[in-house]
Amino acid sequence: MRIGFGYDIHRLEPGRQLKLGGVAIAADFGAVGHSDADVVLHALVDALLGAAGLGDIGDWFPDNDPQWRGADSTVFLRETLQRLHEKGFQVCQADIIIVAERPRLGSEKERIRQRLAELLALPTDRVNVKAKTNEGLDALGRGEAIACHAVAVLRGPKEG
Ligand code: MG
Repeated sequence: MRIGFGYDIHRLEPGRQLKLGGVAIAADFGAVGHSDADVVLHALVDALLGAAGLGDIGDWFPDNDPQWRGADSTVFLRETLQRLHEKGFQVCQADIIIVAERPRLGSEKERIRQRLAELLALPTDRVNVKAKTNEGLDALGRGEAIACHAVAVLRGPKEG
């Protein structure tokens, strides 16, 4: 088994679409980034790449590459899964923590979980999504940014 950890953070600004785990979230603000700035998918991709020993999201999808401008981050996940499969890895599990003061995500967690399970081709009980605030502390607590932590477990290729 291989374990990978991923983290991402993006600033929030008015007038942008907020995407979390490939799900459009109703809010009058969204995350700022070169792509669609989906912190959940970016953290998850880093966790998957980490578990496979394949570097990080910036190595594969550089944020100065015009082809990723405004990109739907599900493309990053799909391409990452393709690379893992080519190397003989199979995704077993993912656990996610979204840190956001706003919007409150209690009612969105299940939708995000379902979407991630679908994207990862896993049963929903192999994907978990948790949401918490930052208790009003720091930029996250002031609602200026949104962050995500992700852990992924892979079954590795047969060795030896
Ligand atoms: Mg990012």
